[in-house]
Amino acid sequence: MDPISPVKTSTMAKPVSYVTGSELLTLKEGSNVAIVDVRDDERSYDGHIAGSLHFASDTFNDRVPDLLQTAKAQGKDTLVFHCALSQVRGPTCARRFADYLAEAKEDAGIKNVMVLERGYNGWEASGKPVCHCSGTNCKGGC
Ligand SMILES: [Zn+2]
Repeated sequence: MDPISPVKTSTMAKPVSYVTGSELLTLKEGSNVAIVDVRDDERSYDGHIAGSLHFASDTFNDRVPDLLQTAKAQGKDTLVFHCALSQVRGPTCARRFADYLAEAKEDAGIKNVMVLERGYNGWEASGKPVCHCSGTNCKGGC
C-alpha cells in the first residue's frame, strides 16, 4: 500500500506537468532545478539521481514548508518530483506541493512543479547518472 492517499487538488493549484528523463538532464544544466526524491526506504539501497533532495513520501506533508524553504534558499524555481515509478507517490507529493504554493500568501518564486516520467527506475534503466552517497541533500558530485 502506498503510505499517502491521493489528496484533493485545489482548483487554484498550478497544473503538474511531466518531464522525461532526457528533458530533465537538459533542465539540470541550469542551476534553478531541484530534483525531489519522495521514495521512502528505497533511496538508501537503490541509489538516487545525482543532486537530488530527499523528502520521503511518508513524512512529506509535514515537510512541505521545509522543502519550500530549501528550494528558496538554493534559488530554485523549478521542482521535479519523482518516486520509483512516478505513478503514485511522486505525482501525489507534487500536487501537494503545488496546493501548498497556491495557498501560500507570499510569492515563493517557484515557477514550475513537475513530475519525472517513469521515475527513478526509468531514469536508472536508461543509463542516466545515479549516485550512491548517503546524503539527504545530494551534492551530486559523487
Ligand atoms: Zn548522492
